[in-house]
Amino acid sequence: MGIQNYIKDVKDGKISAIKTTKNILKEAKRINKDYNYFNVISEDLALELSEKADNDPKGRLTGLPVSIKDCICVKDVESTAGSKILSNYRPLFNATAVKHLINEGAVIIGKTNQDEFGFGSFNVNVGIGKRIPKNPIDKKRVTGGSSGGAAGFTRITKNPHVAIAESTGGSIACPASFCGVSGLTPTYGLVSRYGLIDYANSLDKIGVIGKTTNDCKLVMDVISGYDEKDSTSLRQEIKKEDKVGRIGIIEESLDVDDKIKDKMYDYLHKNDLYYQKISLPLVKKYGIACYYILAMSEASTNLAKYCGLRYGIEEPLKGNFNEYFSKIRSENFGKEAKRRIIIGTFARMAGYREAYYLKAMKVRRLIIEEYKRAFKHVDLLISPTMPVIAPKFNEVGKLTPLQNYMMDILTVGANLAGLPHLNVNGGYVDKMPVGIMFTADHLNENKLYGLESLE
Ligand code: GLN
Repeated sequence: MGIQNYIKDVKDGKISAIKTTKNILKEAKRINKDYNYFNVISEDLALELSEKADNDPKGRLTGLPVSIKDCICVKDVESTAGSKILSNYRPLFNATAVKHLINEGAVIIGKTNQDEFGFGSFNVNVGIGKRIPKNPIDKKRVTGGSSGGAAGFTRITKNPHVAIAESTGGSIACPASFCGVSGLTPTYGLVSRYGLIDYANSLDKIGVIGKTTNDCKLVMDVISGYDEKDSTSLRQEIKKEDKVGRIGIIEESLDVDDKIKDKMYDYLHKNDLYYQKISLPLVKKYGIACYYILAMSEASTNLAKYCGLRYGIEEPLKGNFNEYFSKIRSENFGKEAKRRIIIGTFARMAGYREAYYLKAMKVRRLIIEEYKRAFKHVDLLISPTMPVIAPKFNEVGKLTPLQNYMMDILTVGANLAGLPHLNVNGGYVDKMPVGIMFTADHLNENKLYGLESLE
């Protein structure tokens, strides 16, 4: 059942939100033993909210079970962004997006697994002591990352459910692609980042993963809107126009495996969409370098506060402060977080700042202009979401960090430019889903909403 019908039935008193919530909690606990989709299952909160929904079924999302990526704060529920360094952190407030969900009657069921602070594309970079989620279709394969728990659970659950996730450089589209679900990353600034545990502030966007694009739309309508608590929150609304004329196939995305490429053409033909090729050379040439310099630079400043004093896990102070900070940070950050702190700090250092960080900012501007030129000719851009289907764990283990980062080649461009983009499932290769990504101009989410996965 689609979430729209479910919500209607709860409103009409035909379905009980409490009963549905009990079902999904039971299912989540059972599945979690094997698949590791949740860092926390918030049973008490879920039961409390579902009771409210049954007693007063008025909200736009009345009784709808929603999972929240671990990096988004939920009041009184442990929120660690997947990191040991934030163990036991229970926020005193809800993120704005969560506040909107609760105001409209949604039922928060838990915090989903992710790469530590969002640092990854396969969800294997989990924090110390956390377990790696497995692909819902083949347990030997990754879910994709960094929002692996969100996508995996969305695919596997038999209950009405939508996941709130976050993307910095592709963390919604990538796992949605590997798990075969819809994943919507909105225009930068459309959803407030207040209460999001930052990865890279100029890139982070809260979005939605659902079984269908329509599910994503319903929830996006609720969580978006101006928020004075986020200085980069947009005051504009999305454009009304929803007609899609011509679609531009990103020429530089065509050097992927033929089987993947064919799925993209199948999708265009089955949906009777007009298309032409369009070239985005700058994204291909500089996208990865530009993204990783900016993302790591911002990440390294964001992580500086976790030193065991005001933020992060604490211990009794032994030795001097420097020794104490080093010990806390050495023992509680995972390997990838440390790598990014080192590279990011380097790129921002006096003497290198001009050559790396500031240069990357300029390249980012050129990339945005490249997209803007493309949207003069086409309504949407299309490419495969990922160059591969979900890899096996042992394949990922063999990748060098650079090969790892290169996997994001097709998603970083839209993220750097803050453009809304959607993953839909375009069918299967070797029994695994193949994601297709559509990118729209800023605030043109409505042009994406008509696109659904192929059955
Ligand atoms: N894979 C990218 C990275 O590691 C994107 C992650 C994200 O969007 N949070 O930075």
